[in-house]
Amino acid sequence: MQILRHVDLSVYHTLAAPLVADSLTLIEADSELPALSRQCVILGRGSNVIFADNIRLPLAKLCTNGWQVVAENADHVSVRVKGGHEWHQLVMQTVGQGWQGLENLALIPGTVGAAPVQNIGAYGVEAGQFIEQVGAYDRLGGKQVQIPGEKCGFAYRNSYFKRQWRERFIITDVTFRLNKTPRLCLSYAGLKEKRDQLQSARAVMDEVIAIRQSKLPDPETTPNAGSFFHNPVVDMEKFALLRERYPQIPAHPTDYGMKIPAAWLIEQAGMKGFRQGKVGMSAQHALVLTNQGGSGRDILQFAALVQAAVWQRFVIDLHIEPIVIGE
Ligand code: NAP
Repeated sequence: MQILRHVDLSVYHTLAAPLVADSLTLIEADSELPALSRQCVILGRGSNVIFADNIRLPLAKLCTNGWQVVAENADHVSVRVKGGHEWHQLVMQTVGQGWQGLENLALIPGTVGAAPVQNIGAYGVEAGQFIEQVGAYDRLGGKQVQIPGEKCGFAYRNSYFKRQWRERFIITDVTFRLNKTPRLCLSYAGLKEKRDQLQSARAVMDEVIAIRQSKLPDPETTPNAGSFFHNPVVDMEKFALLRERYPQIPAHPTDYGMKIPAAWLIEQAGMKGFRQGKVGMSAQHALVLTNQGGSGRDILQFAALVQAAVWQRFVIDLHIEPIVIGE
């Protein structure tokens, strides 16, 4: 392991706020994890975090990567992947092997170890659907464990790792059960219109990459954390009232009510492309907050402005999707 002191955090998270951490430990093997202090906060690529301020808590980043097949039959393959492996590399590698499952999740920034935490999802697919087991170091019990996917509490952009297990487990590896025969998910706009041309996982992956590159700002050049707010779900009674007032309101039914695209609410509230100082909502995609050198406080203050504008217009509470560290 390597321990870095007085670390410039702008290179360790995609919102690139110029903040400083007292210490950052780079973990090169799972066997080093027991040496970390209990308060240590674990980072992946930092694509789903907001640092509220300079960070006194010790940070650590997993630098482990690689994958291996652990089981296989005629229909499925189980692949175990190290926590520090880059997510998009994994999508390209599994699709390259002819395995199906992760193609709709192409180009999501971040690491494999971070994927179960918020159960990353896009274009009608969630990582949790394919997660067979999560390997983790249990800081409470001081041992390595394997947790079956169905016990991880996967829900919409959520899991037990994000809530009640947040400080307990360090995800060291994830085992994905992928299909050898395609069962493609083409229900979302952008894919469904091209259903006839999208006959393989590779074709779907290429299309998702093309859509994302055209719609979303690249975090390498325009610092951002992807979708900044959850898409809110409202009950049917509230939805009926909203539709009376806004007949064009887009919505998708879920088990809990109607899911309304946060991007639409933000645009209608006049906040798409709105900037204040170094922070703004992207003019390219209303759900993406972009940061040109603002601090964590600037980001959170700006987010509160957007939340207030949406609340004032629709009486809907938008929730921030990234995890806030150091509040
Ligand atoms: P969009 O077509 O503008 O739709 C906005 C939202 O409506 C989506 O976020 C999606 O919610 C929901 N939606 C659309 N079609 C749906 C359907 N057939 N069934 C149920 N819900 C539907 O979408 P977009 O903003 O371009 O995003 C497309 C996909 O990429 C979405 O799944 C979105 O989550 C994902 N995305 C991810 C990030 C990221 O950083 N992780 C950034 C942008 C977009 P859901 O988000 O619940 O799927």
